[in-house]
Amino acid sequence: MKPPRKLHIKSYGCQMNVYDAQRMVDTLARENFVETDRAEDADLVILNTCHIREKASEKVYSELGRMRLAKQARARDGRNMRIAVAGCVAQAEGEEIVRRAPVVDVVVGPQNYQNLPQLLARAERDGKAIETEFPAEDKFALLAQPRPAQIRARGISAFVTVQEGCDKFCTFCVVPYTRGAELSRPVVQIIDEAKRLADNGVRELTLIGQNVNAYHGEGPDGRNWPLGKLLHRLGEIPGLARLRYSTSHPRDVDDSLIAAHRDLPTLMPFVHLPVQSGSDRILSAMNRKHTVGDYLATIDRFRKARQDIAFSSDFIVGFPGESEQDFSATLALVMQIGYAAAYSFKYSPRPGTPAAEIEETVSAADMDERLVRLQQLIDSQQSAFNRAAIGTRVDVLFERAARNPGQIVGRTAYLQPAHVMASPEIIGQVLPVKIEGLKRYSLLGQLASSEFSRGNQPAASSVSIGA
Ligand code: SF4
Repeated sequence: MKPPRKLHIKSYGCQMNVYDAQRMVDTLARENFVETDRAEDADLVILNTCHIREKASEKVYSELGRMRLAKQARARDGRNMRIAVAGCVAQAEGEEIVRRAPVVDVVVGPQNYQNLPQLLARAERDGKAIETEFPAEDKFALLAQPRPAQIRARGISAFVTVQEGCDKFCTFCVVPYTRGAELSRPVVQIIDEAKRLADNGVRELTLIGQNVNAYHGEGPDGRNWPLGKLLHRLGEIPGLARLRYSTSHPRDVDDSLIAAHRDLPTLMPFVHLPVQSGSDRILSAMNRKHTVGDYLATIDRFRKARQDIAFSSDFIVGFPGESEQDFSATLALVMQIGYAAAYSFKYSPRPGTPAAEIEETVSAADMDERLVRLQQLIDSQQSAFNRAAIGTRVDVLFERAARNPGQIVGRTAYLQPAHVMASPEIIGQVLPVKIEGLKRYSLLGQLASSEFSRGNQPAASSVSIGA
């Protein structure tokens, strides 16, 4: 038998890319590839790109410059290296990538990963292979699933893509162009994948999709199931202690999702619900298809269903035409809601999107200044939320040993890292922790039951946090 070939994947961006990278690893494992952390040792390097951040494609080309040097170094030793570009930049740029970076052998869009083995063979034969179609076949059914040992090695928390693509066409966003129209996986396929993960030690499942609560996959009864119904079904799988989902669109929050939060103890009371702006004028220019009032009403429905629910959000600062008044409305919305966490970014145009054509831009200085103000407000809310945990008992799902010897780290329901001194036996368990202190964004505490404790937790100020 031939020795295995080595594969190095560098993944950028969102959780969907993390999931896709794992499926690519699993698919190429069938072709006798094993993963390596070192690009220079790899027979195949895949750059799994993201188009969301500013200058995304420029960053890919500069990374490809580094890969060209690694490829040349291997060639000097008589060894080959194939280079593939995957992800949203591959989809958006297609053949242009090979034109600008002839070192690239394969360009593969997110809908075509199931064809990676054939694309590599084609590149071997013809020199290059490019595939960025949106095929009719179900890529999820064709992509390989991880082997049990691989699932165990990846830890107790896993992502499962349930939905891909978006039909909303927000004017700033490239997703509808790079990931295509909304597509939901069938319920049975998701349940099978979730059961296999749970059977091999996964305790927490995060359902992911660009617009996850637009999920409408075909159920075993032949009807389209909404996300809430899918969550109810997943809640019956033994071993799954926690369920989450991301990212949601405010417009697609339906009664089934609210009911799931009301009825399912395993569904975590933490919802990422991007609003992007607190100004109706800007929301309309963004084509978000909801108003501030709609958003507030949705938050209210969640809160009525589950009192301990908390929210995070995304904000874009300096969208074309945003006035100081519009921005003040965003600050007012943040004040009104009180987030546990949030991500905020300066607007940057994506080529090909309608917003990129708007001439009325916000100056760089105004954007910088607004971003600082917004982030200060969000930071103060996040700190207050974290401080409120001190002195309380919270359930923590323990994930791994921390860098500090003797410490184990896990996450609360709100994804706050929590550190305790304990034995590694607790990894994979949900246990109550008495929170005693805070260091940066991490909670420090002691196991409420002494069974697994390892001495007393050092004082907060003397603990150096790994994560
Ligand atoms: S809903 Fe989300 S993914 Fe869809 S276009 Fe808007 S920002 Fe992009």
